[in-house]
Amino acid sequence: MTDNRIERIIIVGGGTAGWMSAALLARALGPAAAISLVESEAIGTVGVGEASIPQLRNFNAFLGLDEDAFLRATEGTIKLGIEFVDWLAPGHRYMHAFGPVGRPLGTTAFHHYWLDARRRGTASEDFWAWSANALAARAGRFGRTPPPQAQGGVAEPLTWAFHFDAALYARHLRTYAQARGVARVEGRIVGVDQNGETGFLRAVTLEGDRRVEGDLFIDCSGFRGLLIEEALKSGYEDWRKWLPMDSAWAVPSRDAAAPVPYTRAWARDAGWQWRIPLQHRTGNGHVFSSAWTDKDAAVRTLMANLEGEALAEPRLLTFVTGRRRKSWNRNVVALGLASGFMEPLESTSIHLVQSGLARLLALFPDKGFDPVLADEFNRQTEEEYVRIRDFLVLHYKATQREDTPFWASRKAMEVPETLAARIALFAATGRVFSPDEDLFKESSWVQVLLGQGVIPRAAHPMTAVVADDQVDGWLDDLARIAARTAASLPSHAAFLGRPEARLAG
Ligand SMILES: Cc1cc2nc3c(=O)[nH]c(=O)nc-3n(C[C@H](O)[C@H](O)[C@H](O)COP(=O)(O)OP(=O)(O)OC[C@H]3O[C@@H](n4cnc5c(N)ncnc54)[C@H](O)[C@@H]3O)c2cc1C
Repeated sequence: MTDNRIERIIIVGGGTAGWMSAALLARALGPAAAISLVESEAIGTVGVGEASIPQLRNFNAFLGLDEDAFLRATEGTIKLGIEFVDWLAPGHRYMHAFGPVGRPLGTTAFHHYWLDARRRGTASEDFWAWSANALAARAGRFGRTPPPQAQGGVAEPLTWAFHFDAALYARHLRTYAQARGVARVEGRIVGVDQNGETGFLRAVTLEGDRRVEGDLFIDCSGFRGLLIEEALKSGYEDWRKWLPMDSAWAVPSRDAAAPVPYTRAWARDAGWQWRIPLQHRTGNGHVFSSAWTDKDAAVRTLMANLEGEALAEPRLLTFVTGRRRKSWNRNVVALGLASGFMEPLESTSIHLVQSGLARLLALFPDKGFDPVLADEFNRQTEEEYVRIRDFLVLHYKATQREDTPFWASRKAMEVPETLAARIALFAATGRVFSPDEDLFKESSWVQVLLGQGVIPRAAHPMTAVVADDQVDGWLDDLARIAARTAASLPSHAAFLGRPEARLAG
């Protein structure tokens, strides 16, 4: 029997996606395959992508990266959730906090008891009073483990992700990958060598008549999709009718205050603005739709809403929201921006690199490249994209805003059937179902639905099984635990070892 194993993996692109791929494949495959990464410093990377979701901790843990060392190396801070300001209506704010809000009672989710008690007038209107994450975020606090004495014996651990400097993260991963044998090739790819019959790639060719041959190619070349689109014409599904954002101005600014442990997203007239606090600077960006505003107005809005002094000239990035029809085509697998982009609202893009890599490992081919592997990869990838798309569209659809043409159009838009069904079910009954593979689980859907003003007309009938006074006492206890947890934690600045915490101390 001949050995048909993949021996040479070529990664094209050295942005976050490229170096995440290199690090993970080197860790998972060890010396079983030779891995090379080709990148061009002259072309550069997209250079943004500074907010993550908690799953990134699993990625780092798989690599064996120490979390404190990671935070130091990337000038990182803690992210406990995202605060959405002015999304439902001007002046309104809510949090999509990571982790649970309250706890289920028996088989019935927490929010049903809250809805019932709220209807009876015995519960706070503030759903997030039961989220230790949201309370800690608002108070600017963070610690990995709440001190047990402050809990009255009941601990409520937080759920966290990170803000980090994307370029520094790529550098950190590059050091890791190169130490594990990944070869870095500097140079601009100018062509590909394909098998004339099958279309499979044999090599990429570089300026200066260089050639890099491989068995499996990972396309991390960014929006252009050098291999997956320019060479293999895999097609792109355009989702701008639901997600019309197509541009972003990004600019770093000086920290004006101690970094808060959450991302902020302000709705603007034709888009939204992010503020991401890092240790050495703040990342800012204005994501907008060029169909509803022009780039000069958009950059003025961004610059008028910085907290600290700008540290560079603003940079314009343009994109088309959607997904590559086939992320795996022949012997090319696209990851990162080469496989699609749905805008950065819920920080899902870097996660999609991670989940794509997990999927690739699960479906890892040999040189025979059985097409059923690619089919399954593409089927799962499409499902994942569609579910995330629906979650993002929800933020725009469920709004009371009609004060600008953009928001009026979002409120009036027809949404995908899958999303329309979810909203209708929640609005009528408070029920939310998220399959196991859903990235955003019940707690995330409930927070954004409530935050965007979708208040169910009824709670689950099972709430009637427990006496009202018992429910009220239980709700009070849970709120106290969440509040005590948040109050017991050190400040985020102290956790990071920042000078202002030492001054305050
Ligand atoms: C405005 C904006 C905000 C974002 N915010 C977030 C966020 O908060 N959270 C999040 O998870 N994601 C975010 N993202 C997405 C995130 O930035 C990307 O998912 C991530 O950086 C991965 O990018 P990439 O590596 O796929 O592409 P890139 O960074 O574009 O890298 C492409 C690489 O390919 C190389 N290359 C291209 N052509 C050639 C060639 N011909 N020869 C050799 N090399 C070549 C380039 O040199 C580069 O190294 C954001 C994206 C945008 C646009």
